[in-house]
Amino acid sequence: MSEPSTEPEQNTAVVEEGSGETEVVPAIEVTNLSRHFEGVHAVRGISFSVSPGQVIGFVGANGAGKTTTMRILATLDYPTEGTAKICGVDVVKYPEQVRRHIGWMPDHYGTYSNMTVLEYLDFFARALGFRGEERVDRVTEVMEFTDLTTLADRLIDKLSKGMGQRLCLGRSLLHDPDVLILDEPAAGLDPKARVELKHLIRILSEEGKTVFISSHILSELGEMCDSLLFINQGQIIHHGTADSLKRGSSESCLVEVQLASEPEKLQEWAELSPGVKFVDATKEGGRIEIDSAEKEEIAKVLRRMVTAGLEVSDFHIQERKLEDAFIEILGEIEASGTPIVS
Ligand code: ATP
Repeated sequence: MSEPSTEPEQNTAVVEEGSGETEVVPAIEVTNLSRHFEGVHAVRGISFSVSPGQVIGFVGANGAGKTTTMRILATLDYPTEGTAKICGVDVVKYPEQVRRHIGWMPDHYGTYSNMTVLEYLDFFARALGFRGEERVDRVTEVMEFTDLTTLADRLIDKLSKGMGQRLCLGRSLLHDPDVLILDEPAAGLDPKARVELKHLIRILSEEGKTVFISSHILSELGEMCDSLLFINQGQIIHHGTADSLKRGSSESCLVEVQLASEPEKLQEWAELSPGVKFVDATKEGGRIEIDSAEKEEIAKVLRRMVTAGLEVSDFHIQERKLEDAFIEILGEIEASGTPIVS
């Protein structure tokens, strides 16, 4: 591992190549990154890249290696092997420079019992080098954005969990960073506070910021992320869009069927039909799995049902839940013993 240096390096967002073509520098670029603690291989040779302006969800079970990876990106820990760059700048060699690009929101933030919201933000704005009017403007802007203006004089230890998370996000935004690294920002928030946080992240993404966010609430990540990165036991096991995960493999599809009468007939029919498996019953019919995801094959199944006399009143393909997709990928990994990286 090389010693940190204070020398700056090339960090412009767009590099002109000799060929005349422009190459966009990834907002985050991780290459063969590993982190071993005594007796624990927390991160094992992971590689991924995030384009500027993307929102990426980082998903994994407890202990999978999310916080370790994020702390390295936030220059708070060193990799044992491999490299990580933020906007083209190496996190180990040039941590000071990287810190100007990133806003870091840890999963736990320290308590400052004797400080108000305003004092807290003002303190960090000073620490970041803002002075005079510029500091006042920056703190005011951040309080407005995170809806903390009316709470400016409230003591931090009197804030609710949601308010505290907004304050923590506000702190990470003071220096207007390009890349936000948010470690489980929605943990412990009630549904309203989660919606508010999601709204703020959406605005930040619309402003062109890159957001790297970890969470256990997959459905929410699916709604706000361009893609999801799954990590398991320190290895990346999948990188893809939420839509592709919901669609699942192209080898089968799940269909929910409702019958206008005699719902039990669906199971009887499915059990005698080749290429169709009965999954479970519902009050008005049930779910079946069709051995193909081709539209023509699905249409044929519907036709066969109607021809057999079933009174089909609803027939629609059911998307997989992201949680199911995650569990399925884990199952595939266990069965094959090899990670799937796409
Ligand atoms: P969670 O969802 O519970 O926050 P995580 O995916 O963020 O989990 P990490 O915190 O990165 O997981 O931990 C990955 C592994 O590394 C765990 O086994 C953890 O115990 C171990 N680990 C993390 N930090 C250290 C450390 N400083 N010393 C020793 N082991 C550590």
